[in-house]
Amino acid sequence: MSTAIVAAFREGLERGELLIQKCAECRKLNMYPRYACPFCQSENLHWQRSTGRGRLHSFTVLRMGAPEGFEADLPYALGVIKLEEGVQLLARLLPDAAGDWGSYVCDQAVELAAPPTTQPQYRPCAWFRRSNVSR
Ligand SMILES: [Zn+2]
Repeated sequence: MSTAIVAAFREGLERGELLIQKCAECRKLNMYPRYACPFCQSENLHWQRSTGRGRLHSFTVLRMGAPEGFEADLPYALGVIKLEEGVQLLARLLPDAAGDWGSYVCDQAVELAAPPTTQPQYRPCAWFRRSNVSR
């Protein structure tokens, strides 16, 4: 991905919005941003704001062995989020009240959240938390 095409996506995250690319020709959604629609190859792509609601398809908690540059973030959790719009993305998960991820289970409702203020440095990625409302 070039920086130009992810700029809008990152700027959306900074505003607290999760953006999904939508093809103006075939109307299908695609995650992550691309220059051409993966379904019809059209370059006529727009952005749609996600509701930020979805389900936690799967997740993992990293306690050691972080990739270079992420050591200071340990421990942290990564989840595959299936958005209600039908596309999915990899996102960070906010720890629960106990400061861990023990209350997370697969297939539970999750929602877009603001990044924690304790982040050692700003990373342009989406953060999710457990939804309070069961769906
Ligand atoms: Zn298309």
